[in-house]
Order: sequence, then C-alpha cells, then structure tokens
Amino acid sequence: MDNKGQFSLKLIQKCPVCNHDYLEGKIQILEEADVSFLAYLTCGHCHSSIIVRVMTLPHGMVGNAILTDLSSDEVGKFSEAEVLNSNEVLQVYQELWQSEGFLEKMKQ
Ligand SMILES: [Zn+2]
Repeated sequence: MDNKGQFSLKLIQKCPVCNHDYLEGKIQILEEADVSFLAYLTCGHCHSSIIVRVMTLPHGMVGNAILTDLSSDEVGKFSEAEVLNSNEVLQVYQELWQSEGFLEKMKQ
C-alpha cells in the first residue's frame, strides 16, 4: 500500500477561503479506492470545509475540490452523487488550480 492519505496532504496545502495552511486543520479520508480517493478537509482557521476528489489516471493525477457546508458524515452519504454544481463551486475550483504551485504538485 502506498500512502494516499499523505499524498493528499501534499496536494491540498491552503484553505481556498482564508488562505491559511491546512496543517492545523482536519483531514479525513472518506473513501479510498485503487485509483481515487475522497478527502474532507476542515480549515483550522476559518472552519470552512472542502471535499477533494483525486483520481490517478495513466497520464497523471486529476483532482477537484468543492467547498461545502456538509459535515463529513453527510458527505459520506452524498459521495456517490456528483451533482454539486454552482458558480461558487467553480470559483473555488479555479482558485485552487490557480493557487501557487498547486498544479505542479498535482503532477508529481
Ligand atoms: Zn480557512
């Protein structure tokens, strides 16, 4: 087994809301499969929560992040359906991708 959980810590470094490091926050791996995992991150500073899904594809890793106000328990029930779609979600997604070094780290 490799350490997907640790890898996710590397991928997601900063809260998209307040820009604080996630080091002091809480990270839970909700779902783990051969090629993907789903993590729930709570910022220790502003208490915003995001859901991150990362998939490993033959040519690299693909991830997306969704700002949420669901609890991690609720996310567990919800994780089957990928229906979260709004301007806010899109904005967080873009901020994450544009944040410093994020894309480079995704390729490692
Ligand atoms: Zn925050």
